[in-house]
Amino acid sequence: MKKYLQYTAICLLACLLQQCSYSQNNKDAENTATKSNTTKKNPVYSTTDTAQLKLTDAEWKKILPARVYEIARLKGTERPFSSIYENFKEKGTYYCAVCGNPLFQSDTKFESNCGWPSFFEPISKGSIIYQQDNSHGMSRTEVICGRCHSHLGHVFHDGPPPTGLRYCINGVVLNFSKAQKAADNYKNKKKAD
Ligand SMILES: [Zn+2]
Repeated sequence: MKKYLQYTAICLLACLLQQCSYSQNNKDAENTATKSNTTKKNPVYSTTDTAQLKLTDAEWKKILPARVYEIARLKGTERPFSSIYENFKEKGTYYCAVCGNPLFQSDTKFESNCGWPSFFEPISKGSIIYQQDNSHGMSRTEVICGRCHSHLGHVFHDGPPPTGLRYCINGVVLNFSKAQKAADNYKNKKKAD
C-alpha cells in the first residue's frame, strides 16, 4: 500500500512538472507572437518630421505590419464596419499609421454610417494629396498621405457642412493619439477628486 502511494505521488509530481513546462512553452510562444506584431521597427515614423518619404515597396514591406502594408501600399480596402475608429469619439489627432503624418482632428470626424471612419476636413492642405482613381469601373478621388504617399481612402462630395466633403478613410492606416491637454485635465480632475 505504501509503495502504491509512493508511486502515485511520483506520478503526480511528474505530471505536474510536465504541465508546468508545457504552459511555460506556451507562454514563450505567446510572447514571441506578440512581440513580432508590436515591435516591428518603423524607423521613418515621426509625428514631427515633415520630410517626404520615398521608400521602395520592399522597404515598406519590411517595416510595416502586414495589414497596414496591404491597405497603404497595395491600395487595399478594409472590411466595412471593422475599424475600431469607425464609432470612436475620443478627442485627439489621427496620424498616418505608416509615417506619423498628422491627418485629421477628432472634431472634424462625423458619423457617416458608411462603414469607415469619416472626416469632413484634413488637418492642413499639405497633409493629404488627391489623385484621380478610375479603378473598379468607378470614377473616384483617392486620398493619399502627403508625406509618404500611402493610400488612405477616398473623398466624396456628400459630407456635412462646412466643407460638404466626406473623407472615407481605412482605419488600419490611422493611428490615434489622445489630445494631451484633455488627458492632463482628466488627470488633474482625478487628483482633485
Ligand atoms: Zn504617411
